Amino acid sequence: MKFRTKVVHAGIRPDPTTGAIIPPIYETSTYVLEAVGKDKGFDYTRSTNPTRQVLEENLAAIENGAHGICFSSGMAAVDSMTKLLSAGDHVVTSDDVYGGVSRHFNKVLTRYGLTFTYVDTSDPDAVRQAIRPETKLLWVETPTNPLLKITDLVAMAEIAKANDLLFGVDSTFATPVFLRPLELGADIVVHSTTKYLSGHNQLIGGVVLTNRQDINDQMKFIQKTIGAVPSPFDCWLALLGLKTLDLRMRAHSANAQVVAEYLEGHAKVERVAYPGLPSHPQHAIAKEQMSGFSGMISFELKGGIPAGTAVMNNVELCALAESLGAVETMITHPATMTHAEVPPEDRRARGLSDGLVRLSVGIEDIDDIIADLDQALATA
Ligand code: PLP
Repeated sequence: MKFRTKVVHAGIRPDPTTGAIIPPIYETSTYVLEAVGKDKGFDYTRSTNPTRQVLEENLAAIENGAHGICFSSGMAAVDSMTKLLSAGDHVVTSDDVYGGVSRHFNKVLTRYGLTFTYVDTSDPDAVRQAIRPETKLLWVETPTNPLLKITDLVAMAEIAKANDLLFGVDSTFATPVFLRPLELGADIVVHSTTKYLSGHNQLIGGVVLTNRQDINDQMKFIQKTIGAVPSPFDCWLALLGLKTLDLRMRAHSANAQVVAEYLEGHAKVERVAYPGLPSHPQHAIAKEQMSGFSGMISFELKGGIPAGTAVMNNVELCALAESLGAVETMITHPATMTHAEVPPEDRRARGLSDGLVRLSVGIEDIDDIIADLDQALATA
């Protein structure tokens, strides 16, 4: 199947009992066994659930992976993935990972004997230099949240292989429509399915994807042992959202390109980060490894925090909200919202200034999005 067909059909078969075209919501905790040791492939929903299984198959297929393991949030997926590690292990990771991920690494996992080194993974030499004998995982986010830095995944896969590291990618911003890291050498891909994959601000979820049987076996064990699983209803909602993933991503990307160009030409805007702009420092790599640039933009206003606050308080169509990747355009102030718990000195060191605004461009009519930004920017 071609990608656009897979999005609609992969893993989905008419329900055997009724022929329902949409997989039923198996909202059950347990399953009645026919006899001791004889079940129908399901025994307890923390371990397996038919609705979740369809979602896992669909997500694995569109990522071009063999296995998908779903979790109750993107953070639960990241946390469960780190359970592949042991105390004493060291992780080299992108310096601009989502603030919730660095909070988890720094404030929770360091208490369990893991150590982390943050580097600009768009610079392969910086990655090579950060590797130690005890390094076990190379963890990359691309594009990053919120600075939209791009990492060359083929270069990372080579480094990981040469140093016997597990190589994982958080591909939430790109989605499998535009980037498929397993095809470029990643061992693991993680998505917050809360974002583009479900796409309508309707749920919280996450997934780990892999081609490796050994990783799948461990992740399945971790999934059922720790139990951070999504509800069958949330799996069903995610499946509905996924049907239009390809269409939505094209609309997000087309709108974001227009918005990024508009912002870059605006007198009140200092700089714009969008991988689809030739001014983006890693535009060439983005063009090579992605088939589109997705819908996330960050920009800096000339007037710093007061200007940023004015814009965010005056938008009418754009929603001032924490999340991203949904059909509605959303605007965020990372310093006080998504990345508030990153210490101010670390934020500054990462280039995450207080005046930075993050925009998740929706699929509304582009004229309405621009008109709203235009009137809000006039107040800055
Ligand atoms: N990874 C990235 C890149 C994110 O942006 C987020 C959330 O914003 C997460 C992971 C965490 O996902 P969730 O909010 O579903 O736990």
